[in-house]
Amino acid sequence: MNDTIYEANQLITNADSFRSLVPPARLSVFGDPVAHSKSPGFQNAALRSCGIAAQYVRIHARPDELSAALRALPTAGFFGTNVTIPHKAGALATVDEAEDYARKSGAVNTVVVDGEKLIGFNTDGPGLLRALREEFYADLRDLRVMLLGAGGGAGRAIAVQCALESCERLVLVNRTFEKASSLAQELSPYFRSDRLVGPAERLEAIPHQERALREQLAKTDLVINATSIGMKRTDPALIPAGLLTPNLMVYDTVYATGKTRLIEDAEAAGARAANGLSMLLHQGALSFEIWFGRAAPLEVMRAALKAAN
Ligand code: NAP
Repeated sequence: MNDTIYEANQLITNADSFRSLVPPARLSVFGDPVAHSKSPGFQNAALRSCGIAAQYVRIHARPDELSAALRALPTAGFFGTNVTIPHKAGALATVDEAEDYARKSGAVNTVVVDGEKLIGFNTDGPGLLRALREEFYADLRDLRVMLLGAGGGAGRAIAVQCALESCERLVLVNRTFEKASSLAQELSPYFRSDRLVGPAERLEAIPHQERALREQLAKTDLVINATSIGMKRTDPALIPAGLLTPNLMVYDTVYATGKTRLIEDAEAAGARAANGLSMLLHQGALSFEIWFGRAAPLEVMRAALKAAN
């Protein structure tokens, strides 16, 4: 496997050099940093298994290089790219067209090169949808969801997906309450309906405080962590363990550390819990489907991801 981290400047000033790699680089992930990305491992396994003579590489792009580097993709012969932290909003600002969900989420994680044009997609929300079906046999539209980290990039994409799916209830939680509150205002048109859900409002924003969490968890089926808490072993508890109950499903989008503290606490409480590897897998499989217009070799990708963990 090619573990090289290419610099965006090489793409900008010497785009042809990517065509001469063997096999030629035709897909990539842009990030800053980008070394940690697990996408090359499972995307290259997918390309090999489908007999596509191309490789997927890592490209380190600083925010001030992002736009020029994306613009160089057609000259370099790329089919497209993924973009990760911190470039998802910048990629939306650069592309020529974006699908509806990407625009509403304010973020692009998948770019398709179409002639000289760049088209933006976001597979994070649809990837989560597939992950929840796989992990819990559950659909967002049937669930009362509590989303922690609603003010972040991933949180916003997930909140928009919940709104588009018209989930039963959505409670937006964020450390900086104002961000959750303004997102709730923005999404409120999706939650005005005659649907009877008892006395609870279908859409609420709450501060990340124990009392508010306790009150809302009594009306919750699925808890989603979209904060960055849990990425380090030493991180504090996101939800006090005593508030977790056996009826809950807990999905932690964090995957870097295997079982996060939230997952351990949820399992100890008898709840079902899963980490973000399945979302990572499915968002990647959906990117592959967008680039190639065919089903992704999901089991090959899953095996490659598992082998790397
Ligand atoms: P981001 O834009 O930086 O947002 C971070 C969020 O975490 C914000 O809501 C922030 O709240 C909150 N937060 C940070 N520190 C906190 C603390 N000490 N207490 C409570 N809340 C805190 O990051 P992002 O890009 O959305 O990524 C967030 C997470 O999603 C990461 O862990 C990433 O691994 C995960 N993710 C996973 C996948 C996947 O495929 N599994 C895909 C995308 C992202 P404030 O608004 O108050 O700052």
